[in-house]
Amino acid sequence: METAGTAASTAPAVIVAIDGPSGTGKSSTSKAVAAQLGLSYLDTGAQYRAITWWMVHHGIDITDPSAIAAVAAKAEIVSGTDPAAPTITVDGVDVAGPIRTQEVTSKVSAVSAVPEVRTRITELQRSIAAGAERGIVVEGRDIGTTVLPDADLKIFLTASPEARAARRSGELKGADIHATREALIKRDAADSGRKTSPLAKAGDAVEVDTTDLTLQQVIECVVTLVEEKRAATEEKRAAK
Ligand code: C5P
Repeated sequence: METAGTAASTAPAVIVAIDGPSGTGKSSTSKAVAAQLGLSYLDTGAQYRAITWWMVHHGIDITDPSAIAAVAAKAEIVSGTDPAAPTITVDGVDVAGPIRTQEVTSKVSAVSAVPEVRTRITELQRSIAAGAERGIVVEGRDIGTTVLPDADLKIFLTASPEARAARRSGELKGADIHATREALIKRDAADSGRKTSPLAKAGDAVEVDTTDLTLQQVIECVVTLVEEKRAATEEKRAAK
């Protein structure tokens, strides 16, 4: 990944976990923070969407967890981590567009609830984070709690259901707000209620309510938190 100015390239690697429900601005915030600080960026939702797309594409019955579990290790998912141009392929096929369809969105919670799927994707996420030399911003639902519990900074983004639905319908170019709100609430309930690694705020995460904040304000808030964390780490090192 070719990013970063002098400050970023001399700073120690930092791992930032950004979790929260849909429509809180996780992706836009995470990408911008990573780009600004010269870090890699990983969209873990895209990975769960990619494996869901693969299941649908191969005719797997997604109402049957054992059928999903049996093939969970088969899809080869590759994530490109440049925040300016993140990519996602499955078995070499670019699925950046297909993973955003209504069909995949409505099925992803069922697929991502299967423990074998989570084990597979979690391993992939940890190896990507370990290989990010300058550090990484990883966004998802269980990053601070399960995937990277030792992250340097954990952020949990929230927003009112109305604000989240309004943002999502804007992204979906004028989709019905009421239907979008219902779909979001349903997906969040499934993601929060599953047994394995549910959507949850880590005990040591900083919660940021984005309801009344602009995207720029959220980005500035997270960048400041990362910089404060880096400064504190530097101070600790210097004191040793
Ligand atoms: O972030 P996005 O809305 O694209 O995530 C799609 C879905 O992927 C979520 O609704 C959830 O079911 C699943 N997911 C997950 N764990 C993550 C990230 C996403 O289960 N870390």
